[in-house]
Amino acid sequence: MALSEFSLIESFFERRRRGRDDVALGIGDDAALLRPPIGMLLATAVDTLIEGVHFPVNTPPEAIGHKALAVNLSDLAAMGAEPAWATLSLSMPEPNEAFLKAFADGLFALAEQFDVELVGGDTVRGPLVLTVQVTGFVPEGDELTRAGARPGDLLYVSGTLGDAAAGLEQVQSGTLDSEDARWLRERLDRPTPRVALGQALRGVATSCIDISDGLCADLGHIMERSILGAEIDSSLLPLSSQLLSVKDEEAARQLALYGGDDYELCFTVPETKEAELMRFAATFDVPITKIGEVNNEVSVMRIDGEPVTTSGYDHFRGAE
Ligand code: ADP
Ligand code: MG
Repeated sequence: MALSEFSLIESFFERRRRGRDDVALGIGDDAALLRPPIGMLLATAVDTLIEGVHFPVNTPPEAIGHKALAVNLSDLAAMGAEPAWATLSLSMPEPNEAFLKAFADGLFALAEQFDVELVGGDTVRGPLVLTVQVTGFVPEGDELTRAGARPGDLLYVSGTLGDAAAGLEQVQSGTLDSEDARWLRERLDRPTPRVALGQALRGVATSCIDISDGLCADLGHIMERSILGAEIDSSLLPLSSQLLSVKDEEAARQLALYGGDDYELCFTVPETKEAELMRFAATFDVPITKIGEVNNEVSVMRIDGEPVTTSGYDHFRGAE
């Protein structure tokens, strides 16, 4: 029997309410009613995932649910914000129960991990398109933006880079036959938003961005907004053993510099804050790595002395 829109919303989304204190009214009315905390800025971000564009067609529904929320939480992490509320706009060809259950499982598992409540959304028939919008809080004055880098600041990234791009290559070439290849695919399908790290960087980082389009493209945004330049030492790029098992070192570095979808954080830290950063970095489960330095060569980025292109993927113009 086909599910009605209402029973669909109820069974898959409304029943899984978290009951946050700051949600006066969640799913079920014409709008959600929310209590913004006093003294905080609201950080809000929205991202759309389209099948075949933002995830491969055969991506497991549970991973799609995870990724739809994860890419948004990553944006909040990059602002130093604590996530709180989400809405979901769901367009799908038909109300497929198995898909919806798995999709909701993936989305809610991540929502629970970060105490995020789904407070509303919209459900329509159409091509498979998922839009999640998230809102979080950051104390005014503590927000991390792309604009604050200074010459001499040290350049850091979290985690390892190039994994998701290698995962995508594995999917496209159909070579997911090893443990390492499957791990890379997991990095593509189930990115980990660096939410705790983002908040810990308040008062330490001078600028921050999450890496969705590739390190060089996203670092280029910091450089544009901060009106500065940067130099990366490519021998310092953090590469996973899994990436190095499917790629030679030079190819792995190229993916780390230009490959997208890693959702790690890239941030700048003044030298005077380096010791503080190292102290709390030791308590985190994700490694952070110094990869270079900010300079005042306005918007020029170099790797080991060579200029690089900072243009990433553009949905209207394609790869440039
Ligand atoms: P309206 O027609 O007034 O916009 P809807 O019938 O679209 O209301 O939605 C009813 C309720 O269900 C609203 O609270 C809405 O936020 C929620 N909702 C609809 N679709 C979703 C979804 N995919 N995820 C979460 N909540 C949803
Ligand atoms: Mg209404």
